[in-house]
Amino acid sequence: MRAEIIAIGAELLGAQRTDTNSLYLAGELADLGIPLQRKAVLPDDVRELAACLAAACRRAEVVICTGGLGPTEDDRTVAAAARALRLPLVLDPRAERRLRLRVHRRGRRLYAADLRQTLRLQPARWLANRVGSALGQWCPTARGCLILLPGPPGELQPMFAAQVRPRLRRLAPPAALASRVLSVTGLPESEVDRRAAPLYRRVANPSTTILAVATPHVELHFRARATTRQRAQVLADTLARRVERRLGKAVFSREGHSLAEVVGAALAARGQTVAVAESCTGGALAAALTDEPGSSLFFRGGVVCYSNDLKVTLAGVEPSALAAQGAVSAVIARQLARGARQRLGADWGVGITGIAGPGGARRHKPVGTVFIGLCGPASPARARRYRFFGERGMIRRGAVQAALNLLRQHLD
Ligand code: ATP
Ligand code: MG
Repeated sequence: MRAEIIAIGAELLGAQRTDTNSLYLAGELADLGIPLQRKAVLPDDVRELAACLAAACRRAEVVICTGGLGPTEDDRTVAAAARALRLPLVLDPRAERRLRLRVHRRGRRLYAADLRQTLRLQPARWLANRVGSALGQWCPTARGCLILLPGPPGELQPMFAAQVRPRLRRLAPPAALASRVLSVTGLPESEVDRRAAPLYRRVANPSTTILAVATPHVELHFRARATTRQRAQVLADTLARRVERRLGKAVFSREGHSLAEVVGAALAARGQTVAVAESCTGGALAAALTDEPGSSLFFRGGVVCYSNDLKVTLAGVEPSALAAQGAVSAVIARQLARGARQRLGADWGVGITGIAGPGGARRHKPVGTVFIGLCGPASPARARRYRFFGERGMIRRGAVQAALNLLRQHLD
């Protein structure tokens, strides 16, 4: 059993609105164990719509349309469905009574156009709408069913939950889906794939997707199907474990957590704290560390010392080192880390200094050069040199991820 979703509305093809209904529906279908094989976004054009609907109903057992059920001239979904399936439309007297009552209660007049909402595909059943005026429809097709749902998410979701989900659950074969996500950092996407592909390439179940989330953050998604959720989870986890062995310490989460969450949890588990001194990231590392509630457990605070004199007065950087090596150097990164740790009273100190660009490149220090210092309870401060590529934002995000990863590796 397979599903397709068609989101209908010219506005969804414009620059202002996006189709979010299909995200909700995709989640629901996944819970029901019905694989989604295709989704489309179409304008309110009867011919286009009819062609797309007819093809979808030939391919898939479950076709769900959203939008275009209202009373306005641009609401064409029902007419298109009638054309696609070669079904007659009937004006439904019960739906008309309901509509008249609704309009009357609101002190409005009923217009002829409103009656379009009482047109039902002949073999279809209505899906009640407790929120708005447009009714949904459930229509049998040769392969399965065509489901028409209203566009507003506030109407679609309760209608799906109360009337569509239980019906689909009865129809769907007992199949469950489960997934496992491996989050990887410090390796480029192509390297992740080079190591993982030999393991997943010839395996259809679980299916594997590799997603580049941010420059130094790649996710591998393993989705498995089986007769029960537990069996599906075992399938997904087994493949994930084999891939994880190939990727080693580059894997930082199996639960879809962010790097900052993983670092925060590791610090909290040890009862330790961190403080930061940031230059080119301008506080982005502190922001990442405080994204989740509960960060006061492990985050002491930070200083943003962009100018050289503040590196000295706030983070205790030595003016002679600044003069000798320049602000973007390993020694300054180390001193920033040590300064953050000592002055802000934390177990760990992180220092970041670099050239985010687009200007500021020096000889032997191109844009994207970043030094990250780390100072912990047990050993002297150390620093690593990194090179990030892309525009300013990518370089700064890369530096934050790398700093978090450096700390994570030392906490491991
Ligand atoms: P109505 O009776 O409200 O006209 P309708 O079924 O005709 O219902 P549309 O006119 O297509 O629905 O859309 C109404 C509103 O619903 C849109 O302006 C938009 O805000 C929202 N909407 C429609 N489709 C989607 C979608 N796929 N994802 C998110 N929002 C949507
Ligand atoms: Mg409408």
